[in-house]
Formats: sequence, C-alpha cells, structure tokens
Amino acid sequence: MLVADNVVKAFATDAGNAPALRGVSLGIAAGEFVCIVGRSGSGKSTLLNVLSSLLTPDAGQVLYQGRDVAALSARERDRLRATDFSMVFQMHHLLPYLTAFENVLAPFLSTIRPVSADKRRKALECLDRVGLADKAERLPGRLSGGEQQRVAIARALVTEPRLIFADEPTGSLDGDTGRHIISTLGGLVTEGISVVMVTHEPAYAAMADRVVEIADGLIRGEARTDARNTGV
Ligand code: ADP
Ligand code: MG
Repeated sequence: MLVADNVVKAFATDAGNAPALRGVSLGIAAGEFVCIVGRSGSGKSTLLNVLSSLLTPDAGQVLYQGRDVAALSARERDRLRATDFSMVFQMHHLLPYLTAFENVLAPFLSTIRPVSADKRRKALECLDRVGLADKAERLPGRLSGGEQQRVAIARALVTEPRLIFADEPTGSLDGDTGRHIISTLGGLVTEGISVVMVTHEPAYAAMADRVVEIADGLIRGEARTDARNTGV
C-alpha cells in the first residue's frame, strides 16, 4: 500500500548538509502494524515524515497505492493527507478549551458548515472505540495523560484513514499506560488500517507485526514478531 524506495533526505545545517536518511526502502501493507525503532537521531522521525508526505525526499520515491506522492500537486497531496492519512504525536496536541468530544471533531471544524449529525455520531463512536465514551464532555485537563493520548487516537480515527502514523505516542506515559496505547493502536489494524509507529522502547516494539530498526539513516535490520499470533 505504501512503499519507500531508496529514499534519501538531508537537512541543511551550519555544518553543511546533514544526511538523515541515506537510502531507505520499506513497504507497509494494508492492515499491518509496523514499528520503527532506533537511537535518538537515527532518522526515525524523518522516515515517518517522509512516509506520511510531510517531507519530500531529496532522492528516491514514496509510492502510495502505486502513485509517486511527490508527483502529486500540493492540493492532491493535502487531500490525500486529509482523507487517507492521520497522525498521532508524542504530545497529544489537544485543544485545552474543547471537550474530548469536540477535540475528536476538530478535523471537521475548519469548514464553515456546521458539523453534520453523522460526523458527531462518528466522533462518539471513535471515543467509544478507545474506551472514553463516558468522558466525552471532559476537558483535556481533567483527563489522565493516557486518556488524553487516547482522545488523540480517536481524533486520528474520525476521518477514517487508511494509515495512521504515530511518532513516539507513548513518549510521556508510564509503562502500563503506554502498553494500553500501543494495544489500542494495534487493535486498529484488525479493521484494515495500517499503523506505522516510531518508538525507542523495545517492549512496545514487540507488540507490532514487524519491527524495522534504523541506524544512522539506514535500515539495519527487520524482524517479524509473532505479537498478533499470541493475541497481544
Ligand atoms: P530520530 O527521530 O530518530 O531521533 P530524526 O529523524 O529526528 O531522528 O533526525 C535524524 C537526523 O536529522 C538528526 O541528526 C537530526 O539532527 C537531523 N534533523 C532532523 N530534522 C532536522 C531539521 N529540521 N533540520 C536539521 N536537521 C534535522
Ligand atoms: Mg524523533
């Protein structure tokens, strides 16, 4: 479904051009949960941002459903990101003065039209999906860190994406809460959604279908886990 083919990406710095990705090839299948691991600075976030088309590769290609994403117009790319891709970040980025429910609706609030009853129903469904239907009317400040991140996952789900990209979604959470977040993300793939997650926590990585290790801008190793066979 999503393929990175020999992707190269460098950033301009004071010290010159610093390579972040030096030729990375990776395929993500529909309904697959892939975890990207590696040390800080190894290129994980850059790879995720290239895969999600936030960044354009300097060389190589990212193909989504067989189409070169860089060859799309900016408008087509924006539309693709809005309809097919969703992001979950390390910090949940919830709006503090909106309730959990309103935060989940936020992807629809930029339009001048009122939000339809259908979308409101969908938002409640997504909150229910992450176990928070009973806290829909709470402000983020009255939710725990793990609950806030689950609201962010519900918000990522509300647009019915094909792919969810998550960059260290457990970064600020303790172990048990983190595992709960990962299993929530992992549960989405049973609905055919693909999840690509960055983490540096090996215990979390083991909960994915496949672990890709990146070091110094290159894929160092890949392993298939049996997480789903064991029912995790
Ligand atoms: P990771 O997520 O694995 O910690 P990153 O992908 O964020 O690593 O970064 C990989 C390398 O690229 C690092 O050396 C980092 O300093 C550099 N880098 C990332 N983003 C930028 C940027 N916007 N400008 C300059 N250098 C960057
Ligand atoms: Mg990072």
